[in-house]
Amino acid sequence: MMPSGPIELSRNQAFINGVWCGADDGASFAVLNPATGEQLAALLTLEQGKPLAESRVEIAYAASFLEWYGEEGKRVYGDVIPPHRADNRIVVSKQPVGVCAGITPWNFPSAMVTRKAAPALGAGCTMVLKPAEQTPLSALAIAALGEAAGLPPGVLSIVTTDAAGAPAIGAELTSNPTVRKLGFTGSTVVGKLLMAQCAANVQKVTLELGGNAPFIVMDDADLDAAIAGALVCKYRNTGQTCISANRIMVQDGVFDAFVERFTAGAKALTVGLGTETASMLGPLIDDQGLDKVEAHVADAIAKGATLHTGGARHALGQTFYQPTVLTGIAPEMAICNEETIGPVAGIMHFNNEEEVLRMANDTPYGLVAYFYSRDVGRIWRLSEGLEYGMIGINTGMISTEVAPFGGIKESGIGRYGSHQGIDEYLEAKYMCMGGIDA
Ligand code: ADP
Repeated sequence: MMPSGPIELSRNQAFINGVWCGADDGASFAVLNPATGEQLAALLTLEQGKPLAESRVEIAYAASFLEWYGEEGKRVYGDVIPPHRADNRIVVSKQPVGVCAGITPWNFPSAMVTRKAAPALGAGCTMVLKPAEQTPLSALAIAALGEAAGLPPGVLSIVTTDAAGAPAIGAELTSNPTVRKLGFTGSTVVGKLLMAQCAANVQKVTLELGGNAPFIVMDDADLDAAIAGALVCKYRNTGQTCISANRIMVQDGVFDAFVERFTAGAKALTVGLGTETASMLGPLIDDQGLDKVEAHVADAIAKGATLHTGGARHALGQTFYQPTVLTGIAPEMAICNEETIGPVAGIMHFNNEEEVLRMANDTPYGLVAYFYSRDVGRIWRLSEGLEYGMIGINTGMISTEVAPFGGIKESGIGRYGSHQGIDEYLEAKYMCMGGIDA
């Protein structure tokens, strides 16, 4: 039953087995607003920095997983299989895997939580979730809403810690035999470590790891649409998503026009506090994020890239960085091999389809690729040739709860979203009944 009074969403304690509790030794850690450096108690925009309009979109996206999997739980169908012998009957039922763990990153503080918890709970599992140290408050607010909605104690627990405490919690969540599954979203390096830890108990994993997304613009593309799509795909959330365009590849025939107009678009973006309505880009999440962006830009320029705009910290200070555009990007540059996770567009050119497929697939990652083309044959050839779990065709926005989100190669295992997402939290149980016509 929902309480009659207001629900307290600003929580600064963990939520374990239905109880709000502090650390045994009384320890706590600060959550900083990246825009101002303050400590604070407010939520998504304040703890993550993204513009309020983007936070509203994220909250709706986060809620969509709860709605979808609340419904999908009703459709956990099994199978009745024609038997191999006349006196047998074969039935397959689906059962929840049991206690699940979740570990989430900071770039979508709400959506990453519900994207894990909603299919788990919809399947009938319980979940212990550790949010990122930079953004635990949104996860705690979701737990508070769950509590208010009548979620029984222990169905969704949130364990918070600073960065130093993460390995110990990760070790417990991957070694305690009660925990049957880990769902992780974060860096490939930590994902590999956790997967290795899970091997000891053959614990199931769903991993959503780093990407290195190519964004390809063919000569026959609708250039206006491609530029608009590239700007959103690159600069949304200040470039801090695992599906942000990381390598923009433009065919020779439209290269100059694309660079000129894309650069004009980047220059027109307003950088500011997430709480100000005019802001289109907020700050980077923290100093490490800023250091990586600066290192990528310096490395690219040292190796011959050309700067068209940006290339420096923003006058607002803190971790604000200017929307940046670089051309002359080459395979030996860090920006070509690692996610920048920031507002830096690295643009390369290519001559033909074969060449761009080779360039796009030349990475151990395989999360998402985007391309713009109006030619139907080319659309099929590129879609089939790109080694990625998700393909955006004439769109830079692919995230929705109704479709299976996930990567191949070193970008992960398993899927979030769609009916496939709930299967990640279910086990098939095959029952073979003999002696039917005895
Ligand atoms: P990012 O680069 O996005 O911060 P990380 O992989 O470092 O990605 O962090 C994603 C999540 O993984 C965060 O919740 C972080 O606290 C957690 N994490 C980092 N290292 C470990 C670890 N050794 N064990 C368990 N969780 C970890």
